[in-house]
Amino acid sequence: MTAAPSPRSPSKYRGRLAPSPTGLLHLGHARTFWIAAQRAKERGGVLILRNEDLDLPRCRAEFANAMLEDLRWLGIEWSEGPDRGGPFGPYTQSERRAWYLRAWENLRDMGLIYSCTCSRKDVAQAAGAPNEGDDEPLYPGTCRPGVGPGLQPGRAERSSADFSQPAGVNWRFRVPDGERICFADLHLGPQEMIAGRDFGDFIVWRRDDVPAYQLAVVVDDAAMRITEVVRGADLLKSTARQILLFRALGLPIPDYYHCDLVRDEAGVRLAKRHDPLSIRRLREMGWTPEQVRGEIPRS
Ligand code: GLU
Repeated sequence: MTAAPSPRSPSKYRGRLAPSPTGLLHLGHARTFWIAAQRAKERGGVLILRNEDLDLPRCRAEFANAMLEDLRWLGIEWSEGPDRGGPFGPYTQSERRAWYLRAWENLRDMGLIYSCTCSRKDVAQAAGAPNEGDDEPLYPGTCRPGVGPGLQPGRAERSSADFSQPAGVNWRFRVPDGERICFADLHLGPQEMIAGRDFGDFIVWRRDDVPAYQLAVVVDDAAMRITEVVRGADLLKSTARQILLFRALGLPIPDYYHCDLVRDEAGVRLAKRHDPLSIRRLREMGWTPEQVRGEIPRS
């Protein structure tokens, strides 16, 4: 593990590209990553590349290689990353388990997470209508431990203190029901989400012993001293969840810039299409980097 770096200086912009190698990067990624790269450049900042490969069964080495190549072809440069090293490495999430485990232990010791034995099906059935997008359904609270007189205890059989390791059950962060989570998005303006209504108790560690995206990204953004997160607007609710985790762990909350989502001519979000327009495919079709980046229209 690297030595603890000096505390973040507020004046130094640090941004990141955080792709997951579960497929080829598409036009939506290209537009978001280009904005991230431009914002870092305009501010004389540092851009890092983080390989978010935690979901190992879905990640493939060939996609990780393609991701680097496609980003280079687009004209994006980063100064820290899996291929370049840097002071806050490793920059590949599957090599950072120790960081995530420490955060899990902290949350467990503070009593802010609880073990959950519900299956995905249980949660989907209890939630009724699926939540919009790829978002986690609202958790019905089946395993949530009670918090005081008059409240039904949840069905959790073991208290979180009984666990020395997270494996074997899901771990959920207990959200402060009814609390408004507000932040000023640098592109979309003021945002407000209500905990327990817009999103529920969310998973921070999966039963298959994989840290969940929400936890890993918070731990890494803090450890890598990220000052601004540029991502797609499909992740707005995740940002609200992550703000709760930053707060719980006593970590500095970065600024946020959520990019508009790219849609096709029929208005379908690119990430939702069966054949999202991959950068590779567009390149084969003769698109230039400027056209893929959205700087000049494709006639
Ligand atoms: N790896 C995540 C994704 O590709 C990162 C999103 C983010 O936090 O910016 O969706």
